[in-house]
Amino acid sequence: MRIDMELNQTQKLYIRKKLDSLSKSKFRSSFHLRKYMINMIDEKGINTIEKHCEDFINKNLSGYPIPNDGKQTPMKNHPVFIAQHATATCCRNCLKKWHHIPNNRCLTEKEKKFIKALIMEWIRIEYQKGEKIC
Ligand SMILES: [Zn+2]
Repeated sequence: MRIDMELNQTQKLYIRKKLDSLSKSKFRSSFHLRKYMINMIDEKGINTIEKHCEDFINKNLSGYPIPNDGKQTPMKNHPVFIAQHATATCCRNCLKKWHHIPNNRCLTEKEKKFIKALIMEWIRIEYQKGEKIC
């Protein structure tokens, strides 16, 4: 398990704990990367997927107010979307409920960085599982 080296020890620990509690949620743990998503990671490379992740956070989550909040993250087509549902970073309500990030203002740079790190770590773990299956 690799976690973004830019994060400090407390943040890394927090991400591990969060992923652990998310894995205990029946709904959150029901999301997994599909084969075509694993293929997409192989084709585009993890750095490009991370760039997409940043774009999705900036476009779909970071602003305030978000008119379509709760509906902005599809359930298919991109590994980041699936990771967002699995990590409860799919909308501002889930971010509030699971990560205690207020939904009545824009996200801070620190929050965006945390969300990205959580999503990417989930993808790395799932990707490793997928590789073993195939
Ligand atoms: Zn949500």
